[in-house]
This record gives sequence, C-alpha cells and structure tokens, in this order.
Amino acid sequence: MTAAGSGSAAPARPASQRAQGLPRSAIREIMALAAGRSDVIHLEVGEPDFGTPEPIVERAFAAVRAGATRYTANAGVMELRQAIAKRASRRLGAAIESGRVIMTTGAVGALFTAVFAVVDPGDDILIPDPGWPNYESLAHLAGARAVRYGQPASRGFLPDSAEIEALIGPRTKAILINSPGNPTGAVFPAALMAEFGRIAARHGIYIISDEIYEDIVFDGEHVSIAAHAPADRILIVSGFSKTYAMTGWRIGYLIVPPTLADACAGLQEPVTSCPAAPSQAAALAALQGDQTMVGAFRDTFRRRRDILAEVFAGTGLVPNQPAGAFYALIDISRSGMTSIAFAKALLAERGVALVPGSTFGPSCDRYVRVAFTIADDKLREGLVRLRDRILGNARV
Ligand code: PLP
Repeated sequence: MTAAGSGSAAPARPASQRAQGLPRSAIREIMALAAGRSDVIHLEVGEPDFGTPEPIVERAFAAVRAGATRYTANAGVMELRQAIAKRASRRLGAAIESGRVIMTTGAVGALFTAVFAVVDPGDDILIPDPGWPNYESLAHLAGARAVRYGQPASRGFLPDSAEIEALIGPRTKAILINSPGNPTGAVFPAALMAEFGRIAARHGIYIISDEIYEDIVFDGEHVSIAAHAPADRILIVSGFSKTYAMTGWRIGYLIVPPTLADACAGLQEPVTSCPAAPSQAAALAALQGDQTMVGAFRDTFRRRRDILAEVFAGTGLVPNQPAGAFYALIDISRSGMTSIAFAKALLAERGVALVPGSTFGPSCDRYVRVAFTIADDKLREGLVRLRDRILGNARV
C-alpha cells in the first residue's frame, strides 16, 4: 500500500463551485474582529436577548422524557401542523388547512424548501435590495439568478409594484418578499400586499413571503400575503425563533399551495428528514401556552425602538422609523466612508459592533444596521457612540 501523500498521489479535487461561490457576508468579518474583546457593545446580533420562556422549556423536556426522541414524519408532527393551521387561519386572514403546513428546521429551512420547491437552475428569483443576505445565498445554491428589486429609503424602504413587474421575464419563477423587514424594519401595507397578489395572479408566479417577524409590529398591523393572493401562488415562511425567543431550537414552518405540499414534505428527506422532535414539542408548547410573553417581548422592542428615535432625534440619520422587527438602518454617508470601513472604525475606536449595510445589497452601502436586541442602557450607550462617530463628535 502506498502511504497517503506519496509522490504519485493526485491532488484532491476542488470544493464544489456552489460551496466556493457562496456569497460571504461582511458581518462575519466584524464578528471575527469583535470576538475576544469583552468591552464591545453588540448591536449586530439579530436574535432576541431573552431566554425561551420557562413553561416552553419545561414542557419540551417533559415531552422528551415521554418519548419525543424519534424521527417524525417529513412534514412534522400532525398535532403541531394542526395548531399552526388553526392559529394562521385566525390571524392571517385566510383559511389554512393543516396539510399545507410543513415543519422545517428554522425559518431558514422553510426558505430553503420554498426556493427549491419552485426554482430550477437558470430561473430568476426576485429578491429585495436591501434584503436579508441569505436570500442571495439561497438563490446561488439553487443555481438561480437573483434579480434585485429596490426598497429605497425615499419610499420608506418599500418596494414598488410597477418596478417589480418590469423585472418579470419568462424565466421568473418567484418573488421573495419580507415584511416586517430585515434590515429595514418596514411593514408592508395591505394595498402593497394586494399588488403582490395581483402580480402573482397575472404572471403565474409564486410569492415567497418571509413573515418571520409577524409578531413584532409596533405601528399598524402585520399584513400577510395569505389575505391578498390566491392560495396556489403563495409560500409563507415563518417560525418560532423571533416570536418566542427560540432561535436555538431551530424550528420554523412553511405554508404552501396544496399542489406543492407533497413536494415540500419530500424536500425535507435528503436535507434534515424532519425537524428535531424535541423542538417540535417545544413549538407545540409555545402555541398551546400562555401568550402574554409575545406582547411583552414586542413591548420591549418597541421601547428600544423609541430609545433609538430619542438618541437620533433631529439628526436626520434614521431615514425610516422601524415599524416592525428589531432593526434600523442608520445613514453614515456623512462619514464619507464605505459601510465596512465605517463598521471597522467604529469597532476599533468606540467598541461598538454593527452590520455594514453592504451586506444587504448594492443599494445599502451608505447605511449600517443596528439591532435593538440588548438591554436598554447598553443600547443607549452604543447608539450614542454611533451617533457621535457619524457626526464627528469627540465624545467616546
Ligand atoms: N428570515 C429573516 C428575515 C431573518 O432575519 C431570519 C433570522 O435572522 C430568518 C428568516 C431565520 O429565522 P430562523 O432562526 O427561524 O431560521
């Protein structure tokens, strides 16, 4: 036998182009720079700072002891799918049958399922600019072309339906929308959702609607695509991470057209088979238990949104008060720097970590994103340091 590494061995073949070509997010660079520093104020982290409520944890543990330790059906536990269908029917403005609910590993799993269910290599998928970077990565993985539509500050970070229609071509399969939005905090009004419904009907394309922040709305109400588009055109992404502070459980779901339900369940098999049984038990506990913490979480984020408004009052640096989610885009153009250079400088000079806007799309380099997912006093301090750095004040 020749030992590994002998002269005749051929070099290992390269990693796949899909893996190598995956767009890298600038946030990783900032996180690497912040790692190992104990003094940093973290405004970059996009998850609730609360632990999962104790009753959910307790009931999940009890379920595990009672046997929730095995594979489940690909589409998830029927009792949970029924509970989601019931809740969604009550809240989203349309009747949803449990057969249309597919449990997934986080909303990330739901997005993966949605995109792979409708998009083939070479197809177009329309994604927002600015928008959550995973949308572009997913399009890349699917071999699709990501076509950006604008959500500029001048329109309150909302898309324009005429502009979107002009981007639709023969290879367009789906439009991905996100309300409440990351990183914009914008919440789509009903009239806009109705426009998307009309576009989907007219062009025979799908709307993939990422509604993961549906329970975090401060002004007005969450409007779901479910109430405004035909059931055979929409795939609704949501989950438990943000509403119930359950990011680490990795549990989400997808509501799909009846015609796609089998395909979407089947897509779970080669990827995760099914979401973890203990996490499904925790999700059921969350739905069946007391819901007061959902409002309490939202009130906390609203209070922090108001702190942000107070710190930046009169500066003109916040183009749009976030109406939902827990993010805001802050205009750094006065600094004359790119968003990545600004983010690095802010971290080095003032110990505040945040996300460079360029992460979210080509239109967003004049912004940085802050997440109000830390305690009020730290948040205020971090925002004051950010504001003063943009305005060129000496205070550190
Ligand atoms: N969609 C958006 C817009 C998000 O911001 C996030 C997480 O930050 C997700 C989906 C993923 O949620 P989950 O933790 O349930 O996978």
